[in-house]
Amino acid sequence: CGIIGAVAKSAIEPVIEGLARLEYRGYDSSGISILSNNQIQTFKAQGKLNNLKQRLSLQPPMGDCCIGHTRWATHGRANVTNAHPHQCGQVSVVHNGIIENYLPLKQQLLQWGHHFNSSTDSEVVPHLINHYLGQQMSQEEAIEKTIAQLKGSYALGVLINGSSSNIYAIKQDSPLVIAVGHNSAYIASDAMALSTDCSKIYYPKDKELIKLNTHEIKRCSSSVGQKIHYISNNHSAK
Ligand code: GLU
Repeated sequence: CGIIGAVAKSAIEPVIEGLARLEYRGYDSSGISILSNNQIQTFKAQGKLNNLKQRLSLQPPMGDCCIGHTRWATHGRANVTNAHPHQCGQVSVVHNGIIENYLPLKQQLLQWGHHFNSSTDSEVVPHLINHYLGQQMSQEEAIEKTIAQLKGSYALGVLINGSSSNIYAIKQDSPLVIAVGHNSAYIASDAMALSTDCSKIYYPKDKELIKLNTHEIKRCSSSVGQKIHYISNNHSAK
């Protein structure tokens, strides 16, 4: 499959364009989440990307943070419910790869009272992040605590709607690139998915957490609470 994310003035456009370029990686379904009017809106469709485009064409949602996915199912049938992004509360996630230990994690979450919509391995990720956010952890801490429990391969794009809204990206044994464009920033499974206006491409290491928002792109430390380094602090989508 392929993941993509954009922080840009009209973020849905580069995401849909990127999904078209990623379609070769798998296309049994596709979907996007976009931050619009302080709310995460998610749209999914089974089959080719054109089905998603049709759903969006009636009233394309506006917003400056968007993540998208084309799926090649490994766990759960190829239907709309199992299509990504998967959302729990104010957290929406796209995932490429396989969470090998999702069953025990799902068991734990079910005991904590979480309800699951899909039969994918991926859906445990937004639930875990949401669970830790509920324990007063920061967004970075909640993601790092979640990552510490995952076994398997992943490239993740995480959209969090909060007092500050951000896209996070992190990988383990799955491809991921970060790119800086003109007043914009992107994550993608493949640099090919990105528009030509990207001036700088960065390949994160395994388990390196990257945070993107309308003001900056940051590389967070791999252990909670350490100093943050800047990749770019002069980018602005406003
Ligand atoms: N394992 C996930 C799923 O089946 C992600 C598959 C993919 O990489 O497209 O939904």
